[in-house]
Amino acid sequence: MADSEFDLIARIAARAARRSDVVLGIGDDAALLAPPAGRLLAVTTDTLNVDVHFLADVAPAALGWKTLAVSLSDLAAMGAEPAWCLLSVSLPQADAGWLDGLLDGLLQLAEQHGVSLVGGDTTRGPLSLCLTAHGFVDPARALRRDGARVGDDIWVTGSLGDAAAALFLGANADADLRDRMQRPTPRVAAGVALGGIASAAIDVSDGLLADLGHICARSRVGAELRIDTLPRSPALAGAELPPQQIIELMLSGGDDYELCFCASPSRRDEVQQALNASATPGVRVGLVVEGAAIEVLAADGSRWSGSRRGFDHFAEPGRC
Ligand code: ADP
Ligand code: MG
Repeated sequence: MADSEFDLIARIAARAARRSDVVLGIGDDAALLAPPAGRLLAVTTDTLNVDVHFLADVAPAALGWKTLAVSLSDLAAMGAEPAWCLLSVSLPQADAGWLDGLLDGLLQLAEQHGVSLVGGDTTRGPLSLCLTAHGFVDPARALRRDGARVGDDIWVTGSLGDAAAALFLGANADADLRDRMQRPTPRVAAGVALGGIASAAIDVSDGLLADLGHICARSRVGAELRIDTLPRSPALAGAELPPQQIIELMLSGGDDYELCFCASPSRRDEVQQALNASATPGVRVGLVVEGAAIEVLAADGSRWSGSRRGFDHFAEPGRC
């Protein structure tokens, strides 16, 4: 390949947008950024490795989209408004066409959310992407995992299980399910709107049970979930899968990038207004209770005992 590291960086720099709070973007030893006074800076980073998070032959645009989407989802779960990102790329060879494809997807999502790519690193090595995203949140509106209180409602945005169903069904998955897997929608507007209203929040990346479990652990509470209230998309409801498996996928599938949040029942109207204002569907799926366990209940109140907890990189062999 004729392209050098510097050719690749120049291609990236030529396409990166520049917000007015980017004093100096790509091209120097560090970016210079002007965070707004009085707001907290929310910072998050995620790595996507070949053969662990994606296959080498994945469409680069879908990969670029997802690389940014997972971090915007983390910012959303903090109630933060995204602003900037850094992208570190490790490539086996200087493949400008592949990098252009990656940027197509990444910058499309960045533009939708007014995010500027302000720097990064480009190296040779096994295919890997690391994205760091920055956002702003008012101190009183930050959504943390440790604020859930006994008696709070538990809410979930959108629908659960679609991406996991697409992964399971492979070539048999319908287009809507596949889209959920390849181009997840980070719930940025909902996260920002719920700031100061929700008592705790997390994004559902490893499965509802696992991620709600993190809220419970950090808030020192338990939870009760009602299976019949879990939001399922028409595509998942229509998938050729046994009903039990659909429930498993909604509880433990992962890669949903929806928000799971808690809020006092006294704030139901405000939650609903925040969801409406951000054009985000959301439903109540359970209650915060005393204890440390998550109980999953069927419609008739009987206990569900089927589910594994979610994905842990070091507990199970890699998935894609
Ligand atoms: P240094 O050697 O000082 O780390 P680099 O040559 O790595 O500088 O980077 C030069 C400039 O290009 C820096 O502003 C850096 O942030 C930017 N950059 C490098 N790789 C990327 C990338 N993959 N995406 C965005 N910006 C990048
Ligand atoms: Mg560098």
